[in-house]
Order: sequence, then structure tokens, then C-alpha cells
Amino acid sequence: MGSGISGLITALLLSRGSEVAVLTKSLESGNSYRAQGGIAAAVGKSDHPKQHGEDTLRAGGGLCDPDAVETLVTNGPAAIELLHQWGTHFDRDGSNWSLCREGAHRLPRVLHAGDATGAAIMSALLKRAGEHPRIRIYSGVTVTDLAMTGGECTGVWAVDETGPVLFRAAAVVLATGGCGQVYRYTTNDPAVTGDGLAMAYRAGAVLTDMEFVQFHPTALKGDQLPLFLISEAVRGEGAVLVNEQGHAFMKQVHPWGDLAPRDVVAQAIFRQMEAGRNVFLDARKIGTSFEKRFPTIWGRCRENGLNPTTDLLPVTPAAHFVMGGIRTDSWGQTTIPRLFAVGEAACTGVHGANRLASNSLLEGVVYGRRVSEKALSLLSAPLGTEMPDTPPPCICRTRPTSSRWKTEIQRIMWETGGIIRSERGLTSGLHQLAQLEKKVPAEEVECRNMITVAQLILRAAKWRQESRGGHYREDYPNTERVWAKKHSRQQRGTMGEPDALATVCS
Ligand SMILES: Cc1cc2nc3c(=O)[nH]c(=O)nc-3n(C[C@H](O)[C@H](O)[C@H](O)COP(=O)(O)OP(=O)(O)OC[C@H]3O[C@@H](n4cnc5c(N)ncnc54)[C@H](O)[C@@H]3O)c2cc1C
Repeated sequence: MGSGISGLITALLLSRGSEVAVLTKSLESGNSYRAQGGIAAAVGKSDHPKQHGEDTLRAGGGLCDPDAVETLVTNGPAAIELLHQWGTHFDRDGSNWSLCREGAHRLPRVLHAGDATGAAIMSALLKRAGEHPRIRIYSGVTVTDLAMTGGECTGVWAVDETGPVLFRAAAVVLATGGCGQVYRYTTNDPAVTGDGLAMAYRAGAVLTDMEFVQFHPTALKGDQLPLFLISEAVRGEGAVLVNEQGHAFMKQVHPWGDLAPRDVVAQAIFRQMEAGRNVFLDARKIGTSFEKRFPTIWGRCRENGLNPTTDLLPVTPAAHFVMGGIRTDSWGQTTIPRLFAVGEAACTGVHGANRLASNSLLEGVVYGRRVSEKALSLLSAPLGTEMPDTPPPCICRTRPTSSRWKTEIQRIMWETGGIIRSERGLTSGLHQLAQLEKKVPAEEVECRNMITVAQLILRAAKWRQESRGGHYREDYPNTERVWAKKHSRQQRGTMGEPDALATVCS
């Protein structure tokens, strides 16, 4: 499920040993297309995977799984080679890759294709997958639930314009992305409503670390939703955050100034805004090279009547990435037999409490490869013929989501589960969601999924009585050693008993 970077990489590699069906809401949906800055890998002359790993662990605020990180960074250079072989043209500096520095990376390590890296990768992968004889892409399909047979995942229920359809498969891979759409201000694609997370939860899978949501510091402030991202690479090239008094406040906040970790920058901007001061990105010193280096951002600024070489760019933080997700092992296996998760939907442990910039595209490639290997091994254990226990969807065809419910969920989450959280706000958010849940009809599949995911985030955020990485509690502002190894773990009760929120210590 899903035709983003992780879904397509997995499908392409699976096709070496199996027929593959890719189900997707639409071919250009998802966040992979939107990725601007690039993909991180230790390919520079003075770099090493060990250094990439150290930066990833530091950004992750003590909650990364070191083995998962090692897998990510050591396989990074091979992942770049694979993308290159499959047709992505990353920018070059003579015979070397052109590398850019982003927040919390100690040196330039981010490969890019202009400022539309995701689009470049996705066009190459889609072309390859679209032409592949063993891959069938079903676009315009919404997956509604996992089809379970005797505790195993044996396929999915979906709806297209003709009605409900059952897809059966020896292995099911959730590559449905994150859930940024649960927030009012987000950079995420409208398709990214957390469906895979909610489906996995309903089916009994374990979800972990859902309290950790990354808010990107610099989305272009405006009326058009989702908000347009101004990549960190712009700050990497020298742009500086200033408040409306012209004060470059990041210097006082963190030794790395404007290139401090994202949570630090997002909170600093939010505090400026709370104090009634608008915040701007001053990119004027990049000068005339801005248009050439960042053509997409340049174009969007111009559409908004802004000229980055002469104007300050108004910015706001926005929900960007979820570090938590469906718990998997290092091969992408979830806690449900035959069900895999990969990409932003999965929680492999590589991001911990906060993702290092440009590590998520890399995760999709590295872990997509591992998922495909493991999933292919299931072909030797064929499926039975019995129908799944899960009933078919209660809707006959895909229908547009009601913006009324969606807006309400997004408001609740922005106000109560956003950048700065508190016991009071989180309790109120959960109460409001419980009330809303009673009103939203079953046919509103996306909205119901959004409510489930929103509850998972708020519950975990309420449980974690400290601040760490993407999770900030104003009533518990310190990072506490006692929480250092604890992960939230949520799994639906099997007999209809209340959902459990347990702790896993790693
Ligand atoms: C604006 C922006 C810029 C970013 N820049 C970078 C960057 O420079 N570098 C980096 O590493 N990361 C970046 N990220 C993060 C990164 O893009 C994502 O984490 C990554 O692309 C996720 O890939 P994915 O394959 O897991 O999911 P996605 O690419 O989000 O794809 C999800 C897919 O699942 C499908 N889907 C969802 N629900 C259903 C359903 N019910 N039925 C059928 N299909 C479904 C969607 O249609 C879509 O095809 C950025 C994110 C954003 C929003």
C-alpha cells in the first residue's frame, strides 16, 4: 500500500521474485514527491557512516535504536548507488556529488536534485515501476482495512470507483506514510491522513513512539493549505531567522544557531510568535544564486508576491514528520504475521525522538530493500483459501472526505497536541476527540482514521511526562534520565477491553 519512495522501492525489489500489486490513492500523492532538501548518506570524502550515525543518534535525543541506525547509515551509500542506477540524477560538483549541509549534520552530506529531490527520485521510480511487467499499479484506490485470517494478515480490503475489492497476498506491506494531515498547519500532502497507522492499530499491531512529531520550523506562512515548505537547505546556504524587529534570535538559543536541531528552532519560532512577534527568513544574502539553487522555492515565493533576494519571507512552524509508527524489527516485520511496514508509516527506531534532516528518504530505500528480502521468503508459505475474518468496508466507493470533520480534528490537534503541550491541553484534546468520534459517520473512512491516530498521539504525549526531541511539555520542560530508555507502546485490546498504553524499555 502506497506509491511513495518506500512503496515503490519495495515493489521494485519484490518484483525480482514475485508478482506485486501497488495500491495507492493516486500516483502523485504522498510526501515523497514534496521532498525538497535531499537524501543524506555518507558519500563525501571526509565523511564516514560512523559520523552519520553519530549525528543521527544525537538528533534522536537518546531514543534511537543504535542497531537500526547502524543499518541505515552503513547501507546509505549503496542506497544512493541504487537510486542513481535507477535513473535519479543528483546534482554534481565536477566528478563528485554536490553535497549540502542541513540542520544537525556536522558536515555537508545531503545529495539533492535542485530543490525538488523528491520529485526527481519519484519520477525515476514511477517510470521504472510503471513499465515493469510484474508490477501492477492500482491508482485511485483507498485501502480501508487489513484483511485478517486467524491472526495473520492475508490481504487488504479496499474501495475504488466500482466498489469494495479484496486483495489477497502472501505478504502485505504498509507504505502509507505518516499522518501530518491531523494538524491544522502542516507541510504534508492531503493523502497523508495516517490510514496505515490506524488500520494496523485496528488489526492489533503495536505502535510505538507516537508522541514524537516533528514540526518543521520554516513553512511559508499563507492561506494555502498544506503550507509550502522552505527547505532547511536555504538556511544551510546562509539564510537567517529574524523576528519583526530584525533580531536574529537563534544565535542566543543554540550554539549551532539557525542550523540547530529542528525541534529547537521550531520552539524558538513558536515562542516568538506567542510573544506576538512575526518571524521571517532573511535569505537576502544568498543573492541572485537563490533562483538557480532553489528554483521551486523561488517560484512559490514569486507566486506569493515575494522576492527572496529583496524581501523577508514570513514563516511558521508546521507539522512535518512523525517519528513514531507501526513497530517493526530491522526487516520491517510488524507484530502481525505477514504484515510489514516501511517508510514513514514504520517505526524502525532510526529516528528516536527526533529525525535528522534528510534521513527519511534514505530510510525508505534502505528498509524497503530489507522488507522486500524478508517478504519474498514468505512465498514458500502459501496462503490458505478461506475468506478473511475482517468484514468488507461499509462504503461502496471512494468519496471525498468531509472538510467539516477534518478541519475540526486539525484544530483540536494544533491547539492541544502541537509544538508546546501540557497535561491540561492533552486531556482536553482527548475529550474533544472522544466527543467528535461519536458524531463522525463510519463512511468517513479518512476522518475516522485521523481520529484514531490523533488519539494515539495525544495519549502517548500525555503519558510521557518530560520533554525530549519532537515532544515538548511546558509542564515537564526538562529531559529526564528516568525516561531515557522508555518508549510508548500502544496496542488495541484483543477482546474489546480498553486500549493499553504500556512502556517498553530498550
Ligand atoms: C514538504 C516536505 C518536504 C520533505 N523533504 C524531505 C527531504 O528533503 N528529505 C527527506 O529525507 N525527507 C523529506 N521529507 C519527508 C519525506 O518526504 C517522507 O517522510 C517520505 O517521503 C515518506 O515516504 P513514504 O513512502 O513512507 O510515504 P509517502 O511518500 O507519504 O507516500 C504515502 C503513500 O501512501 C498512499 N496511501 C496512504 N493511505 C492510503 C490508503 N488508505 N489507501 C491507498 N493508498 C494510501 C498515498 O497515496 C501515497 O502514495 C519531506 C516531507 C515533506 C512533507
